[in-house]
Amino acid sequence: MQAKMLRLAQERDLFEQAKSYAYDYMARAFKRNVFPSEAALKNLSVFDEPLTELPGDPAEMLRMLHEYGSPAAVTSTGGRYFGFVVGSVFPPVMAAKWLGDVWDQLTALYVSSPIMAKLEAVSEKWLVELFGLPPQTVAGFVSGSSMAIVCGLAAARYELLKRAGWDVNAQGLFGAPPIRVVVGAEAHSTVFKALALLGLGKERVELAPVDEQGRMLVSQLPKLDSNTLVILQAGNVNSGSFDPLDELCDKANAAGAWVHVDGAFGLWAAASANQRHLTRGLEKADSWSVDAHKTLNTPYDSGIALCKHRDALVSALQATGAYILYSENRDGMLYTPEMSRRGRSLEIWATLKILGKSGVEELVDGLCQRARQFADQMRAQGFRVLNEVVFNQVLIACDTPEETTSTLQKLQRAGECWCGAGNWHNTPVMRVSVCSWATTAEDIDRSVAAFVKAREEAQG
Ligand SMILES: *Cc1c(COP(=O)(O)O)cnc(C)c1O
Repeated sequence: MQAKMLRLAQERDLFEQAKSYAYDYMARAFKRNVFPSEAALKNLSVFDEPLTELPGDPAEMLRMLHEYGSPAAVTSTGGRYFGFVVGSVFPPVMAAKWLGDVWDQLTALYVSSPIMAKLEAVSEKWLVELFGLPPQTVAGFVSGSSMAIVCGLAAARYELLKRAGWDVNAQGLFGAPPIRVVVGAEAHSTVFKALALLGLGKERVELAPVDEQGRMLVSQLPKLDSNTLVILQAGNVNSGSFDPLDELCDKANAAGAWVHVDGAFGLWAAASANQRHLTRGLEKADSWSVDAHKTLNTPYDSGIALCKHRDALVSALQATGAYILYSENRDGMLYTPEMSRRGRSLEIWATLKILGKSGVEELVDGLCQRARQFADQMRAQGFRVLNEVVFNQVLIACDTPEETTSTLQKLQRAGECWCGAGNWHNTPVMRVSVCSWATTAEDIDRSVAAFVKAREEAQG
């Protein structure tokens, strides 16, 4: 086995083959149906085989992946995938990722990978500037917003208890002074998961009332104090709406509370002059969580935890309160729960490097513009748009809930475009998220036509 692998490391054939399969896939990804066909899904059973005793043939392994795997992939990198909040990938970044994959760096410490430490440090600086955050803000590069929220809330938990004279790393939560948690009634499910993981409980939170778009109401914010963690949202996963961060942060800061902002996809509004009004006051918070793999269109898995209080974040994640020694160079693991990690900042760096500030702005504005186009054209076709389209999310319904559900089924089956089901104010909706750089005005035309056709079929 070893001799064979050493030989393969010197040969190009397999890599050339993988490359040609990849080109083949990319050539079709923008044109073919978005969801795999029934036949492609059925063929996935070829993978149900016992682990063999003897080594398999590498070329055969690759061929199997392309022959049966590629057709069963969801082509979310193209322009007509509107499910969840799923970004695409810029081709030059995919190329950079290939190179990074060959490096296979361990991004724990400077000494384990100086290049990755450098790309993390530079990405941190660029992101802080793009979002307009305080200059002392540090960034941890994690798997996604789920984990970035955990990091932000862990820093909050550590710091609020420290101020109350309690070392949560040493003593845990049993017997600790209570922390109040105030969350908008429309917070994302991963916020509640993070609260549960951190022992803060999902059900002991104080739910702050929201308006019909899901925005927290400043006038009905519970009275805050210095034992309170307030969790705000920049970008509601359904409506795309933003909490009024400026007013809410002012109240929280006056009370000495900690503010975390979940801005998984919406924080990127801050990077565009045209959308920045949505995130006004953002910089007054203490911690933020955001995804690169959604709005910025980097490859999966890529989330970022940002925190204004470096010592609080590092102490919380390293479980060591006293005297952390910072070296001159960046040791990425200080800012993440994990030790060993892949070098995901390479893709963030590469994306920002090829886009520049104006490219990021064009990307964000383009998603917003296409979402508005989608909403306008759907209204013109007699569909109902249930949300204020302030960012990239559009909630669509037919005349009755039954017609909505059955139209969505037909739409998903046809495969010309794809969007998911949602529930908004107790009624089923078709949830469209425009999140790919590749989505063109023509993709919207084609998708709207697919919705109209699906509704016709649903009406029989
Ligand atoms: C997607 C999303 C999350 C979770 O992010 P992951 O990257 O999937 O872990 C959290 N909050 C909001 C608002 C989201 O849209």
